[in-house]
Amino acid sequence: MLTTQASLGGPSPESTAALVAVLGLSICGIWLFVRRLKDGPVAPDPWDEDVKEALQKDEASPLCHRCLSPHDGRANFCATCGAPVGIYTNWLPYPYLFSIGHTMRIGTSGEFRRSPLIILGFFLLGLAEYTIFAPVYWFAFLRGLRHSLTPRTQDTGSSSDASSPM
Ligand SMILES: [Zn+2]
Repeated sequence: MLTTQASLGGPSPESTAALVAVLGLSICGIWLFVRRLKDGPVAPDPWDEDVKEALQKDEASPLCHRCLSPHDGRANFCATCGAPVGIYTNWLPYPYLFSIGHTMRIGTSGEFRRSPLIILGFFLLGLAEYTIFAPVYWFAFLRGLRHSLTPRTQDTGSSSDASSPM
C-alpha cells in the first residue's frame, strides 16, 4: 500500500525539504528587500535648496511629464500634448480611456524609447485593446516605427526632391 502511494506521486521527503528550503530563501529575500527599502541609503535630491523652496510655494505650477508645459494642478490632461497629468486620471472610470488612447497614439507616432520590451508591450496592448482589430493597430504601429526611423536617411535623398518644383 505504501509503495503504491509513493509511486503515485505523493510528496517525497526530498521534495518537501526542497520546498521548505525555497520557501525559507524566499522569506529571507523578501525580508532583506524590505529592510533595504526601509534602512537603505536615500538618494539625494537632484536640486539645491532654492529649487526645493520654490517647489513648496503655492504659486508653483506642475509641469507636464511629456512636454514640460506648465498646467493647472487640477487638470486631467495636458492642453499642449494631451498626456494624462492628473494624479487620479488613470483611475477615473471615464478619463482613463483617454489615457489609454494617448498611450496608443504614442505607439503609432513612434516617439518612444526603443527597447524590445516596450515594443512587445505595445503589441500586447494593441491586442488587449482592439482584440480582432489588433492587426490594424499593429500595422499603424509598425508604420510609425518605420517613419520615425527613416527621416534621417531620407533627408539627404529628399532634399533634392524638395528643391525641385512640383
Ligand atoms: Zn504635455
